[in-house]
Amino acid sequence: MELKTVKDIEVRGKKVLVRVDFNVPLKDGVITDDTRIRAALPTLQYLLDQGAALIVMSHLGRPKGERKPEYSLSPVAERLGELLGREVKMAPDCVGPEVERMAEALTPGEVLLLENVRFHKEETSNDPDFAKKLASLGEVYVNDAFGSAHRAHASTEGVAHLLPAAAGFLMEKEVKFLSYVLENPEKPFVAVIGGAKVSTKIGVLESLLSKCTAMVIGGGMAYTFLKVQGHSIGNSLYEEESADTARSFLEKAGELGVEVILPEDHLVASEFSEQAKAEYVDAVDIPEGKVGMDIGPRTVEKACARIRGAKTVVWNGPMGVFEFPAFAEGTRKVAEAIAECKGTTVVGGGDSVAAANAFGVADKMTHVSTGGGASLEFLEGKPLPGIEVLKK
Ligand code: ADP
Ligand code: MG
Repeated sequence: MELKTVKDIEVRGKKVLVRVDFNVPLKDGVITDDTRIRAALPTLQYLLDQGAALIVMSHLGRPKGERKPEYSLSPVAERLGELLGREVKMAPDCVGPEVERMAEALTPGEVLLLENVRFHKEETSNDPDFAKKLASLGEVYVNDAFGSAHRAHASTEGVAHLLPAAAGFLMEKEVKFLSYVLENPEKPFVAVIGGAKVSTKIGVLESLLSKCTAMVIGGGMAYTFLKVQGHSIGNSLYEEESADTARSFLEKAGELGVEVILPEDHLVASEFSEQAKAEYVDAVDIPEGKVGMDIGPRTVEKACARIRGAKTVVWNGPMGVFEFPAFAEGTRKVAEAIAECKGTTVVGGGDSVAAANAFGVADKMTHVSTGGGASLEFLEGKPLPGIEVLKK
């Protein structure tokens, strides 16, 4: 997939409207993690170096079309100013006469941050007049908000039809690695899929099945697969409504000759709780009354052996309840094996990325996606509205 990027368009001396993902976590008005702001810096810095004036826009949280002060982007303006080493002006809104005046007065090298676009319900409904108002502020549109690319909103999709549009460097990098996984992954290609639910991951399982050499299925979703194979799973997570899907998925994998690695041993607990004691079950079957919480060491070893020998690995979804220290080992070991793998390694999914960060291996991956929902939909093979409009 080839995108038009900032390098393909003329930005010198222009007013560039840049959509970024500044949806940062805040606690009492203080930014607790500025990763998303830092992720947009290469694009913003490049545009400034080219002599552009920047009108930056983002959403923050879910104010649902209302002006709610706790969702103001002003703390972000301050932090962005520190990181760029220049003043960032904060607009009182994202549209309207006052904002138009501020945008009009901008000179090359200046930065204006618009207020939360989701203070207007017209943002999420992709209202054409609202998109027109946003577009009128700039001459060129750059989208670097990969994390919002699966939404057809005014600031992510609508404006792209109204101005010359291009992808920023972050968007370009995300698309490069995620489409590598879908389009021409070097084999052996191992997909490691976990997380809580079959229903949220079946799209990605099916999309990757025809492309991968082996698939590791762990996490809470694995027990539905074990159950349809006839195993007992005790009180582990089970999705009745996904049983047929799981069954036909396993059949299809068999037909395609894709190796599916499911848990062969487990760490279980008597109840789903952080205080619960971890007990080892050295068998596929889980005793009655026990809850499967993590993959066991034999399963870990088998999965890691495949991962170490892979040329491409994609990881989406933890192998167990990694938030509870007693059940984090499976996810940690798998994450470490992916980090050590010499091939191309791509991690997507909010919780998987959090796990990779918690285990200190995120910087050893080839690519860690900044978009949870967006990366999942991309890997499912769905067209993302914010990306479709940036294609060459
Ligand atoms: P991602 O955000 O990486 O896509 P998911 O949101 O699909 O991942 O799943 C993450 C959640 O799955 C975690 O909160 C984790 O605790 C949960 N999980 C993993 N294994 C189990 C399990 N055996 N039982 C219940 N929940 C699990
Ligand atoms: Mg999640």
